[in-house]
Amino acid sequence: MNQFRFSRRPDIGDKVRVSFEFFPPKTDEMEARLWDTVTRLEPLKPKFVSVTYGAGGSTRERTARTVKRILNETTLTPAAHMTCVDAARHEVDAVVREFAEMGVKRFVALRGDPAAGVGTAYRPHPDGYANGAELVGALKGAGDFDISVSAYPEKHPESPDFATDFDMLKRKADNGATRAITQFFFDNDLYERYVEKARRAGIYIPIVPGILPVHNFTQVANFSARCGALVPAWLAERFEGLQNDPQTHALVASAVAAEQVLDLVERGVSDFHFYTMNRADLVFAICHMIGIRSHETEVAGSAAA
Ligand code: FAD
Repeated sequence: MNQFRFSRRPDIGDKVRVSFEFFPPKTDEMEARLWDTVTRLEPLKPKFVSVTYGAGGSTRERTARTVKRILNETTLTPAAHMTCVDAARHEVDAVVREFAEMGVKRFVALRGDPAAGVGTAYRPHPDGYANGAELVGALKGAGDFDISVSAYPEKHPESPDFATDFDMLKRKADNGATRAITQFFFDNDLYERYVEKARRAGIYIPIVPGILPVHNFTQVANFSARCGALVPAWLAERFEGLQNDPQTHALVASAVAAEQVLDLVERGVSDFHFYTMNRADLVFAICHMIGIRSHETEVAGSAAA
């Protein structure tokens, strides 16, 4: 039972590090929700927080504005996502310079999804970076940046086989990536096997699990189908019948994610990247369970003791 394994290791919070992913808000209302989330999660002192970048640079300004605000108004360290879709090299390089001048030292370097949509063939810009590995090389040449890249425990949907995927991940590592962050997954065995295979393929950078708390099971199931992530039958069963019961849905989601993370801790994983969907509650609860507490929580806890 996870809770017994966990209670034997009370120092766990000292060993676990987390990072959080946000997306740039589109509306004033979404912006307010993002900043509530950032404010709530900031005291957990994540290693970094990343801000996604729309394919084709569609969110360039919003990503930049969000990153700038994080730099100026919080104690957090931002990482800017970058993609290569529909952009010439000089355009990508200019965005990198813009971020660097702002004070950004971390990037998440991605090729991005095909401009015509997931499932269509990817066509690199004729003067652009063709894939994640080429972008990593360009970033490394532009400065001493911390660079995260993507990894796919269930294989990238466009990739013919795992060997092609590992070849790309190795190229990204060889070009200077600091760590890989995985696509979300729900079966920890898949992740563990993937990491073992990566090591055998000569890839030694940390492969940080990307954890997606299930805010809305129906949406997650649809999204998983598009990005090739398996939704196990047991997961569907847990959320069955909860579409119109948001409170129970949230309780179950928190239990599911905590179970997944605690099991990974038990398997020796110490770094986690949370896809927050710009919502704090589930992530905050899961962090609490793995021993990551805000200063305020500790103070409140010791006052009550
Ligand atoms: P790469 O690392 O270049 O390639 C991934 C795999 O696809 C390779 O291993 C290779 O096997 C295969 N592949 C690549 N090119 C081809 C090709 N031409 N033909 C056949 N196979 C090929 N998307 C966004 O738009 N914005 C974001 O901010 C963003 N953030 C992400 C963060 C994380 C942690 C992850 C895991 C994904 C993110 N994505 C984001 C999604 C990502 O852009 C897509 O999955 C995209 O399809 C691949 O980008 P990549 O960098 O993984 O590609």
